Amino acid sequence: MAELEGLEFGKSDFVLLDEVTMEQFMENLKLRFEKGRIYTYIGEVVVSVNPYREMDIYGKDAIDAYRGRELYENPPHLYAVSDAAYKAMKRRAKDTCIVISGESGAGKTEASKYIMQYIAAITNPSQRAEVESVKNVLLKSNCVLEAFGNAKTNRNDNSSRFGKYMDINFNFNGDPTGGHINNYLLEKSRVVQQQEGERNFHSFYQLLRGGCEETLKLLHLENDAALYTYTREGAATATSNNDRSSHKAVMSALEVIGFSKEEITTIYQILAAILLLGNVEFGSEGESVQILGQDTVNHISELTATDPDSVAKGLLFRTVATGGGEVIEKGHTEKDACFGRDAFAKALYERLFGWIVSRINSIIEVKNYNPVLHGKNTVIGVLDIYGFEIFDNNSFEQFCINYCNEKLQQLFIELILQQEQEEYQREGITWQHIDYFNNQIIVDLVEQQHKGILSILDEACLTVGKVTDTVCLDSMDTKLAQHPHYTSRKLSPTDKTMDFQKHFRIRHYAGDVTYSVDGFLDKNKDLLFQDFKRLMYNSSNPVLKEMWPDGQLSITEVTKRPLTAATLFKTSIVALVDKLACKEPYYVRCIKPNEMKSPVLFDDARCQHQVAYLGLLENVMVRRAGFAYRQQYPRFLQRYKMTCEYTWPNHLMATDREAVEAIITQHGFQGDVAYGQTKLFVRTPRTLFTLEQERAALV
Ligand code: ADP
Ligand code: MG
Repeated sequence: MAELEGLEFGKSDFVLLDEVTMEQFMENLKLRFEKGRIYTYIGEVVVSVNPYREMDIYGKDAIDAYRGRELYENPPHLYAVSDAAYKAMKRRAKDTCIVISGESGAGKTEASKYIMQYIAAITNPSQRAEVESVKNVLLKSNCVLEAFGNAKTNRNDNSSRFGKYMDINFNFNGDPTGGHINNYLLEKSRVVQQQEGERNFHSFYQLLRGGCEETLKLLHLENDAALYTYTREGAATATSNNDRSSHKAVMSALEVIGFSKEEITTIYQILAAILLLGNVEFGSEGESVQILGQDTVNHISELTATDPDSVAKGLLFRTVATGGGEVIEKGHTEKDACFGRDAFAKALYERLFGWIVSRINSIIEVKNYNPVLHGKNTVIGVLDIYGFEIFDNNSFEQFCINYCNEKLQQLFIELILQQEQEEYQREGITWQHIDYFNNQIIVDLVEQQHKGILSILDEACLTVGKVTDTVCLDSMDTKLAQHPHYTSRKLSPTDKTMDFQKHFRIRHYAGDVTYSVDGFLDKNKDLLFQDFKRLMYNSSNPVLKEMWPDGQLSITEVTKRPLTAATLFKTSIVALVDKLACKEPYYVRCIKPNEMKSPVLFDDARCQHQVAYLGLLENVMVRRAGFAYRQQYPRFLQRYKMTCEYTWPNHLMATDREAVEAIITQHGFQGDVAYGQTKLFVRTPRTLFTLEQERAALV
């Protein structure tokens, strides 16, 4: 409540605004940011503004202050919602989840780390060794996942290039017994190419800068990122990350988590093989294509424990089955060879990342849990997934990421409303419906069967023959021209602002995004020649081999077309949404105050845009339309009993509810409240405010 901090810090809950207008919302948000109050509530939702500086609010004192308390007893904080989620899980045996959203650089990943830290700090008071070790692995896994899944982008020096959902399992004592990580769509195109000013994944620079001389020698590497095609762009880019010390931290985290020496070595051999692959070049002599630099090929084969001739062959030829069931070897053109090499490098990295995640999972999975003996196994899930992205050039990756955000926004709408409605129903209270923009129509535009963009894309990918990106765009334009959230290029043929012939535009809930279809089909097909899969499967390094189980198929056995990237992504996001939907949700909505990473700049227009598309104003309205506050009778009584002569120091009424009625009646607030089965509902914040002031004067 505001009085805890004093009004000079603004209102600590947006439902306390005098009027719910954008002006008042922004004024309050800005005031609080300027006063160093980065968290503000909307009911149980935390709105967070990235401070871009170290804040002294996460230490042990803070943890102690929030442990076991109710939301309104302390200033807004991530710890308060973490505690609320934890309490719901422990006291009511509810599975809960904390969904963190916001655009790139808004502070999602940092928030997820503070949440994990808090949960780790308040659990296992008796310091049982097996619980400590689970906690340790959960915390250390962040460091490893960030090394392999994060990169410097133009928006964030430590940008997560994958989505992460982590379940933490608890026993009946409320202590963590294990967990599970799901990862979503790693941006693997970054392995082979980065935009100007950006870097490849941290792991490469960490190895090159942090690996000792001996290690690098064994890996056939030199400690200079500028020497490798895949890391050249980012080689001179300054970042706030210290690659050298991070390398040490990652190595030790891998050990603590439980990776074997052999596994750790393999991880670095794969990284080295990828860097060297990037330096493989091809030259043509007449019809035939050749590899320039046999040494590099030899090193790659050594690092992947494969035969050098097979590596060279994989790079230059592909095995194809002819119609007659014959198997022939077809030589690549120079262009195909480059395409194959890059696809191989991307796949090596993607599989490595997936394998690291599954290895961590196998270590932290709950073992030997017997529900009869141990009671219900409950879960807190933490979701830290890429936010809505609009770049200068938006491609397939942005399309997938933004679709994912539409799905999560849809869930937010459903849950926030559904939850309110269910609560009113449970408590026997009637309420007024509030209008808001429902983005289901955009979700349908993307995923509807047969008519949606994903279906059209997949159809184009399955068509035999030369279907180009532009042909696919034609098909979208024809089928979707009437859709209110789709702009066909045909509708604005005179648009001179860009090469519109290759673009389409979607009106997302968060704004208009123009996508370039260039590369859409290739990225969706995600083709990797079977020869590479077989090559890796035949590696004599068992760890590497384990990452390529599909390599055991021979070319004639590979008849089924693999699912496309977009379809796989959609399936994973639908599963994620189902998982979240059956849990009690807590939300953290992150806002990025400016593009300069500045701790003092509050860019009004940028912030207002985020507030608008996150639907925060509607959120406040929904929260206020019914009842801004609700509180269990005993708790309410405990807090305000001193403000009424009939309840202080103790009441003589039959129930707490009657005692609460006495307080409300004495203050003349009858018209502003409703009495539910177990809770008092208060319509306007002012009522609470007055009570709080009276209370403050008395205690
Ligand atoms: P996102 O995951 O939303 O893309 P991050 O969590 O990586 O964003 O945050 C980007 C950067 O902003 C961090 O590297 C850090 O420098 C800064 N930052 C974010 N949240 C905080 C915070 N609570 N306190 C201090 N700095 C923060
Ligand atoms: Mg992040």
